[in-house]
Amino acid sequence: MPRPPFRATTYHRYAASLFGIDGVILMGHKIVIPAAFQQSILNALHAVHQGLGAMCARAADSVFWPNITTDIARTRNQCAQCNRSSKVKRHTNTNQCHPS
Ligand SMILES: [Zn+2]
Repeated sequence: MPRPPFRATTYHRYAASLFGIDGVILMGHKIVIPAAFQQSILNALHAVHQGLGAMCARAADSVFWPNITTDIARTRNQCAQCNRSSKVKRHTNTNQCHPS
């Protein structure tokens, strides 16, 4: 049995802010993304390996689902490339703080 695109109980507290146009659910100016497409949106938000702040800023302008900020943080924290890069930057910063 296919999963419903939206769980009514999850969105109940946002009900006053939600409306639909041509089959698309909106909350304000943001598109409410069904669960089946959320990972694709997260991948797009992190496509250029931006940090958490930049990803959240991009999302805030365009998309919404409950707990989106938690999902964005998880996506960033699970990115091996970003984690390797941040370790190099920390190591570099440490060296800059203690010049020889
Ligand atoms: Zn990354």
